[in-house]
Amino acid sequence: MIKKNIRQNILTQLADSKTEFDILVIGGGASGMGASLEAASRGYKTLLLEQSDFSKGTSSRSTKLVHGGVRYLAQGNLSLVLEALRERGLLKQNAPHLVKDQSFVIPCYHWWCVPFFTIGLTLYDLLAGKRSIGRSVPLSKRGVQKALPAIKNSKLRGGVRYYDCQFDDARLNINLCQTLFEKGGLAINYVEVTGLILKKGMVRGVKAIDKETDREFVIGAKSVINATGVFVDQILKMEDPKARDVIKPSQGIHLVMDQDFLKGQEALMIPKTSDGRVLFAVPWHNRVVVGTTDVEKQVAELEPHAEETEVNYILETAKLYMIEPPNRGDVLSVFTGLRPLAAPTAEGKKTKEISRGHKILVSKGGLITLTGGKWTTYRKMGEDVVNAAVSRAGHPKNKSVTKNLKIHGHQENTDLSDPLYWYGSDRMIIDDMIEKDPEMGEILSEKLHIYKAQVVWAAREEMARTLEDCLSRRIRALQLDARESIRIAPRAAEIMALELGYNKGWIDRQVQEFTHLASGYLLN
Ligand SMILES: Cc1cc2nc3c(=O)[nH]c(=O)nc-3n(C[C@H](O)[C@H](O)[C@H](O)COP(=O)(O)OP(=O)(O)OC[C@H]3O[C@@H](n4cnc5c(N)ncnc54)[C@H](O)[C@@H]3O)c2cc1C
Repeated sequence: MIKKNIRQNILTQLADSKTEFDILVIGGGASGMGASLEAASRGYKTLLLEQSDFSKGTSSRSTKLVHGGVRYLAQGNLSLVLEALRERGLLKQNAPHLVKDQSFVIPCYHWWCVPFFTIGLTLYDLLAGKRSIGRSVPLSKRGVQKALPAIKNSKLRGGVRYYDCQFDDARLNINLCQTLFEKGGLAINYVEVTGLILKKGMVRGVKAIDKETDREFVIGAKSVINATGVFVDQILKMEDPKARDVIKPSQGIHLVMDQDFLKGQEALMIPKTSDGRVLFAVPWHNRVVVGTTDVEKQVAELEPHAEETEVNYILETAKLYMIEPPNRGDVLSVFTGLRPLAAPTAEGKKTKEISRGHKILVSKGGLITLTGGKWTTYRKMGEDVVNAAVSRAGHPKNKSVTKNLKIHGHQENTDLSDPLYWYGSDRMIIDDMIEKDPEMGEILSEKLHIYKAQVVWAAREEMARTLEDCLSRRIRALQLDARESIRIAPRAAEIMALELGYNKGWIDRQVQEFTHLASGYLLN
């Protein structure tokens, strides 16, 4: 469990100049959280610093798939698919409260399509080995119509059903953070790394600032891991201002629609859209996530915005397949993320062609940088990067234990029809809070099933520091229905203020900032 005063305790430890960490990780997304948990669970003294909130960056903005990557199979990248399928199985085993099986249906409009995808996806199943979650099967035209009642059936020849997994990215991230604390590691949000400490040219720690108080810290560490996603180049330049850029950000957007969009529980997968991309429509928390795009970007930013062309592309593609084409008014939320793709060495490669595999770089001064990868493989990325730190800094060679490490909230047989299922084993404690104090049962949003207890829980146990942390990443309201999240913002801010000891001025500022941010998740 993370306790309310943990932040103050950590800051006190950071202020002690004698404190030295074995492994210090910069960045609190999937990569950084995976690396920190790997390090702490192997017994290394570990600290993670996040400049904003945990998973504020790309790691709360994924398509929510835990997958081998059917597209990578088509590209012939077997080793990447194999690794991701293995990790899919491990994640399902270790966080069954957050990772669920999901069936996908590919509709086929050409005679060759059904046998082609059935063969390819059977190979996909075989690669998963004993961790396969269901065999792919060809579907007749009628079978596709039954599975996806919302799609057009003229020219439909049949289809293929296959299986992958689906999850909640920001919830997994916070559960990983809780597991990190349980393993003796530390993590703190709103502490930004502003520089590296170099001794005789070697990286021996970081300079950081607490963004809530502007207090500065100098923190010693034997190994420093740079897991800052699309920001890795900024950290690399803290060691060597002339360092070559290793990242190529690629933007992807998602439109969130009502469940009616699909009229069922099976996901739609379009393997090749007009411009050669894959498009998914996947049920998620009683909504449907439709995406994504792949647009090269020059600038790394924490809150990227969807371009009109991306929104139009998704709506236009959906129009080709859906009986009732969605329009802008049907979009409940638009969220946008930047893929931290490893920059290719060959000139002229499009971002959609760049490998999604991860890379580890060790700079001259010993800074270890992790780039690329995907949420599905976060654990393996953590294992590999900690191995790199061990061989570079000579930490004792402790064995990795994360393959079988249960993630906080772990609960078998989670009832997925329960709107609060994502809390896993913590669900009972939230129930208890409501039983002991009926006021905790106050409903903030009937549409999204949000209770006062969840807001209190986010501030008390999940290190939510701002209204956005709570509404966006602890209870997902912003991504599920931006307008509804704006409606409940004032009440949620009052509840948080009481819990964290803030005044009316804080409430007003938080509501204003959140409303401004959430407006960017709405289509006008
Ligand atoms: C559109 C899209 C869809 C995707 N869908 C999927 C999917 O369905 N399945 C899947 O497996 N993967 C998916 N991915 C990939 C996956 O989401 C990313 O690979 C992963 O989230 C990247 O995590 P990260 O930790 O490297 O980066 P981030 O999550 O961006 O984390 C980096 C963190 O570093 C912090 N930071 C930066 N500078 C500093 C500093 N100076 N001090 C302290 N902290 C700092 C940032 O604030 C940020 O929180 C998708 C990606 C995108 C963009």
